[in-house]
Amino acid sequence: MAEQSTGVTVIVIPQPTCNGPLHIGHLSGPYLAADIASRAARARGERVLTLAGIDVHPNYVLTKAENLDMDPLEMVARFRGQITTAYELARIGYDAFLDPQDPGYQAAVAGMLTELVTNGTVPMREVTLHECADCGRTLHHSYVVGKCANCGEGANGLSCEGCGAFASAQTLVDPSCARCGGSPRPVTATVPVLPLEDYRERLLAEWMQAELPGRVRSVLEQYLRTPLPDYPLAYVTDWGIELAGPLAGMRVDFPTELGFSYLYGAAHALRPRANGLTQWVEAWNDVDGVWHFNGIDNAFYFAILYPAILAACGVPRPLSRGATVNELYLLEGKKFSTSRNHALWADEFLADEDAELVRLYLSWDRPDRYQSDFTEAGYRAFCDYIRPFLDGKPPRDAAVPSELVAAELERADQALRLIGFDSALAIRCLLAALSTGAGLDSGVLAALAGRDRPAFGGR
Ligand SMILES: [Zn+2]
Ligand SMILES: [Zn+2]
Repeated sequence: MAEQSTGVTVIVIPQPTCNGPLHIGHLSGPYLAADIASRAARARGERVLTLAGIDVHPNYVLTKAENLDMDPLEMVARFRGQITTAYELARIGYDAFLDPQDPGYQAAVAGMLTELVTNGTVPMREVTLHECADCGRTLHHSYVVGKCANCGEGANGLSCEGCGAFASAQTLVDPSCARCGGSPRPVTATVPVLPLEDYRERLLAEWMQAELPGRVRSVLEQYLRTPLPDYPLAYVTDWGIELAGPLAGMRVDFPTELGFSYLYGAAHALRPRANGLTQWVEAWNDVDGVWHFNGIDNAFYFAILYPAILAACGVPRPLSRGATVNELYLLEGKKFSTSRNHALWADEFLADEDAELVRLYLSWDRPDRYQSDFTEAGYRAFCDYIRPFLDGKPPRDAAVPSELVAAELERADQALRLIGFDSALAIRCLLAALSTGAGLDSGVLAALAGRDRPAFGGR
């Protein structure tokens, strides 16, 4: 089976958008889970390469800076600092940091896209885009709002948070400019396009071999009946990595940038001296599979666009291994909301709290199969309950029969594998073992609490 193989599994943590700090809800989703799964895999002797980073180029960032009346780069610097502080305090480890502000990263992304256009892999096609009739902005991502064509929920031009479907100014029902309220006006533009339908056979192979939750499969199911869209990889807009040569005047679409960043980030970590598309693709010979940790609203991107970009770049085999998807985490019964200031910021909360207890509680209460709820009272009660177990002084009447300890530890260990990842089960089994004084030196506790993280290394 793949898990016994000696190849590298690339684990992808989504890069948080630099339009705010991370809150405890973010942490409870993909970030902590990916870190725990990576640590546990490495403790089993598997070769995993974890990619993390930040995301600077969605136009949500420029929108936020304009709303705050701040210089965009100053704002990015502030949120970037808070995000990386949260990673550090929460002990979120990674092997490669995808940094969109690094000139080498920008050159790599722009260079790969330009090369694919120059060598004919990515065609230039005349497409219909939409711009605002009033302010003239190209309507994409945060600049457009409308109703999801699939489920009718309100959505931006990225994806629907309700059902996970792909959304753009071209597919939304009743779209309008989210910045000034203006009406959309169709414009034709010649831009580089990834004709996803041309990759159907490869994508079907990716979906067949990957461990994907049912909710992701229902997003994919519609494409078994309808053609996959032509996806514009760059266009004229006011935010994003600038292009030159045949693509001068355009900027890279940000999900496209993310797709290329995974190819480059893993290749650069595996073979630091490799340079250019051909050598980066060769570095991927060491990779056995890719596993994404993400929210359901990004299903179109991690299950369709990113694998198609790897294929377009020349990675010869389907490498999707699966995805771990989470639901939203609530705070005292309500959705986290920056605008209503209903949030618990990860960097501030962790500055005053024991990171191990926060990690263990968020594992215990992980919003994996339903929207679970962070409450201050629940968190404090959990801390009081678990401390004696961690000190090796569990209450005597809480102990499970000693004959069950080995089974509890085995189940905890198995629950941290990528397939069927369930940290809430792992911590409950671990607690049963700890009730007898066993398990204090277990790999499960080290992974959940974030105790030690061996570096990415040899076989
Ligand atoms: Zn407008
Ligand atoms: Zn929808």
